[in-house]
Amino acid sequence: MSVRVRFAPSPTGLLHVGALRTVLFDFLFAKHEGGQCIFRIEDTDRARYNAESEQEFVETLRWVGIEFDEGPHIGGPFGPYRQSERKEAGIYATYIEELEAKGHAYKAFDTSEELDQMREFQQINKQQIGYFGGDWRDAISSEIEAAIAAGRTYVIRMRIPRDRKIIVQDAIRGRIEFDSNILPDPVLIKGDGMPTYHFAAMVDDHLMEITHIFRGEEWIPTSPIHALLFELFGWTAPVFVHCPVIIGADGKKLSKRHGATRVLDYMAQGYLKFALKNFIALIGWSPGGDVESMTEEELISSFTIEGLQPSPGRFDIEKLNWLNGLRIRSMTTEAVLEEMKGLYSEAYTKHYWETFVDEDRVPNQPEKDGKKIYSQFENLVLFAESNRVYALHCIKEEQERVTNLIDFGAACEFFIVDEPEMDPKAVDKWFGQPHVRDLFAHLKATCGTKQLTIEEYREKLVEFQTANGIEKLGPIVHPTRVALTGKTSGPGLFELMAVLGPERITKRVDRALTFVK
Ligand code: GLU
Repeated sequence: MSVRVRFAPSPTGLLHVGALRTVLFDFLFAKHEGGQCIFRIEDTDRARYNAESEQEFVETLRWVGIEFDEGPHIGGPFGPYRQSERKEAGIYATYIEELEAKGHAYKAFDTSEELDQMREFQQINKQQIGYFGGDWRDAISSEIEAAIAAGRTYVIRMRIPRDRKIIVQDAIRGRIEFDSNILPDPVLIKGDGMPTYHFAAMVDDHLMEITHIFRGEEWIPTSPIHALLFELFGWTAPVFVHCPVIIGADGKKLSKRHGATRVLDYMAQGYLKFALKNFIALIGWSPGGDVESMTEEELISSFTIEGLQPSPGRFDIEKLNWLNGLRIRSMTTEAVLEEMKGLYSEAYTKHYWETFVDEDRVPNQPEKDGKKIYSQFENLVLFAESNRVYALHCIKEEQERVTNLIDFGAACEFFIVDEPEMDPKAVDKWFGQPHVRDLFAHLKATCGTKQLTIEEYREKLVEFQTANGIEKLGPIVHPTRVALTGKTSGPGLFELMAVLGPERITKRVDRALTFVK
């Protein structure tokens, strides 16, 4: 039988890193096995359903490049793929009737006050909390008929068999045993007639012929309900793959402190989807050996369940930065520019930066100004539209140093503006030196007339050094850099001179002269 996996989110909020990992594992596993990956929307909790959330899931998965074989937006032979529509189609009604008829489910008419009282009683008497039968598990048919006749609302609960073990076979942890006496009878159909997650998901997993359930390990405690449903229906259960929890690099629960948790934020910050997928896949999974940087094809070809680990997976943003930088450097400059244009065309990028608040400000560093970051990025992308060749040269110079796409805006700014911002400290430090006026005159005369090669720019500076008997090249290089870029760091000086060319060099040196006291 061919492998079929599903990603089945409840659209109640944002798409976080944990869910991305689940869907990525689904996708990699399906591709590795030549199987199918199905997208299913679990929207039976109407109180928590959020249409924007569903949209966010679709948008994020589109950006990240995870394609499904079947789903609500593409259809498929097992549809509909949205549980509310499946409910309308009467799919769950058939199965709950079957379970009731077999005696594995029963109607419970408890009011919410009665349930509260039960809980209170259990708390006071230090009993196990939960519905273990109440008045209805063993009610006789006349009582049930009377309650129905009286028009009382009810839920349908699962009759958990008592005094036995329930076994869940987990692909990572092996056999997990549960004592059925500690499992309350869960609701399968709610008062509004909607199935609960437990019921709808398992019925659908069966009907959609799902072979493997990848999901977070927070579902382990309720997994016996799921395994039992399969058993009571007489269906073959899929393989459960409970993926390890994700923790921060400091070993603590993953939170915003460790980096964004919303996947779209990584897009807006300028991470490449390939690097992000590479990084996320390595949280709790390893291909063996110490390979880290992998292409999507490599991830697919090496993804097996055996590589999944039961211990918590670490989310280390430094590793993502490293992988992203590596990826940026491995691309052609044209491809980097295309990625930047793609990022610019995403409406969320602007929204993210314009509403950005620097929550974890790095000590001794100025606060990050989201609006400025965005406008620098926008300026570069727009500039590249009319000055493509020059922009590509600028991007190429920064490609070695930049970690993510958005940073190209600030890094390349000095290249593309007519008057780069001058760092006053750098000006103070380097423009006060006695040889600076002569140096600038020399620069204009030798580097400001025609385009030279990188090596020739170096020779011109060395020429000045030798002629003036200056021991080191530093006192020549630094003021030149400040004059041309406004700052003390950046790409190699001779390389950037070759990009700027004679006209810009002349203008910038002229302007720098106005700063010399
Ligand atoms: N709808 C569930 C969720 O929101 C899916 C859990 C599962 O994969 O079984 O996470």
